[in-house]
Amino acid sequence: MFGSHLSVAGGLHNALIEAHEKKMDCVQVFTKNQRQWKTKPLTDEQITLWQKHRKQTDIHSVVSHDSYLINLASPDPVARDKSIALFREELLRCETLDIPLLVTHPGAHMKEGEEAGLKQIIASLDEVHRDLPGLKTITCLETTAGQGTSLGWRFEHLQVILQGCHAPARLAVCLDTAHMFAAGYDMTSQKGTQAMIQELDQLVGLDQVRAIHLNDSKIERGGRVDRHEHIGHGHIAKVAFEWLLSEPAFGDIPKILETAKSPSPNGEPWDLVNLKTLRQMQKRGFKKRNEAKSQKKG
Ligand SMILES: [Zn+2]
Ligand SMILES: [Zn+2]
Repeated sequence: MFGSHLSVAGGLHNALIEAHEKKMDCVQVFTKNQRQWKTKPLTDEQITLWQKHRKQTDIHSVVSHDSYLINLASPDPVARDKSIALFREELLRCETLDIPLLVTHPGAHMKEGEEAGLKQIIASLDEVHRDLPGLKTITCLETTAGQGTSLGWRFEHLQVILQGCHAPARLAVCLDTAHMFAAGYDMTSQKGTQAMIQELDQLVGLDQVRAIHLNDSKIERGGRVDRHEHIGHGHIAKVAFEWLLSEPAFGDIPKILETAKSPSPNGEPWDLVNLKTLRQMQKRGFKKRNEAKSQKKG
């Protein structure tokens, strides 16, 4: 299931229209301006338009990404309360719009140390879950590049949060290929990628992965900086994408591009070029896995 993060300029429903036009199966949106604290409540008109286009376009697999300002790990109580308030708002907007997944970056410990930061994230999530019982939307903790004091760049961090929260069923995981690579995971070969997936399975469980951000990386492996590149144009090996995209456990989950939108050299929108590349990579991955299977049998 492939899609892209699309603009909601002129109305949330415009992302659904564009996804449909570009023959995507899923889409990711910001339900509010991601760089602002303030939110305008959703109007009835917005909600009706959204629901109508959801039906018309038949795009039911929708992911929301929360605001970049939120830091659930903040050691500063004022900043943390502000973050929790906005995160609640993000969750409630998803609930209203019937968006099943909300992707969030776990948080940054601001030099308080990883352990303190992870504890703070667990406390924040528990508080939100206690205050808002019974919501359907699942929060997906995203793997990060490990820039600055960001947490979530090791699978161990996600494991600690998932195991520490009182309502683990309300949490899941979103992978980001560019982030995992920048964080140091070995996506330079098929073998490296296999080892990474195995590690993920042991620490977190592949069934916890509910969404994947598909981005190549401008930054070299272990660079700990988040810079997305078009698929096949960065430092991640093509075989790494092939293997990840053909992983059976990730079959039905939304796989979303977060790459630049400017037109590609031949004038075609980059999203369409990248989607074509991804579909080809996935096909090659399936073929490789089948060959490996029949070799084993023979
Ligand atoms: Zn993200
Ligand atoms: Zn990123």
